Amino acid sequence: MCCKVMRIPELAKEPNLWCMHCVRGQGCERYETRPGSCREFQCMYTTSPTLTPAWKPSECKFVMQWEPGGGGRLSIHVDTQRPDAWKKEPFLSTFHQWAADGVAQNMQVCVFVGRRVYVVMPDRMVDLGEVGPDEVIMTRATQTPRGLVLEPFKVSKDDPRARAAMDAQAAHGTP
Ligand code: SF4
Repeated sequence: MCCKVMRIPELAKEPNLWCMHCVRGQGCERYETRPGSCREFQCMYTTSPTLTPAWKPSECKFVMQWEPGGGGRLSIHVDTQRPDAWKKEPFLSTFHQWAADGVAQNMQVCVFVGRRVYVVMPDRMVDLGEVGPDEVIMTRATQTPRGLVLEPFKVSKDDPRARAAMDAQAAHGTP
């Protein structure tokens, strides 16, 4: 599934198209010489022993990737031929729970269906619409009399808020 849904810059492979080197039913025809992006990619299904077989990407039709930096982001890349696969159970309630568990460190749970991005919050989903390559996803935290309110939003990479966040990440040595 990662050979379909992920972007592979070295091959100019766009997301949601099968890689030219993927032989269906067999795998990568150039595994020993696969690009760096493929070598470095770590599928959460292979690194999280607690995930049941239902989470296997070929079954659930999405690929999960942990991205460090800032509070961290769980990115869920969905096969656009099954755009609602991530909304099924046990997936959606688990995403809400992970979002709740990550509130303290400002972690994001983002679902990518092509260019369309949904941010899963502890209690709801926020549809950000299409997010371009020149935009970043941020979360605004506001303390209110009812407690902390989190609101995700998209902003240009050139926006001072985005630059400040990226500088802060660099200062802490995170990508
Ligand atoms: S080069 Fe191989 S591992 Fe990389 S996306 Fe293509 S088929 Fe998959």
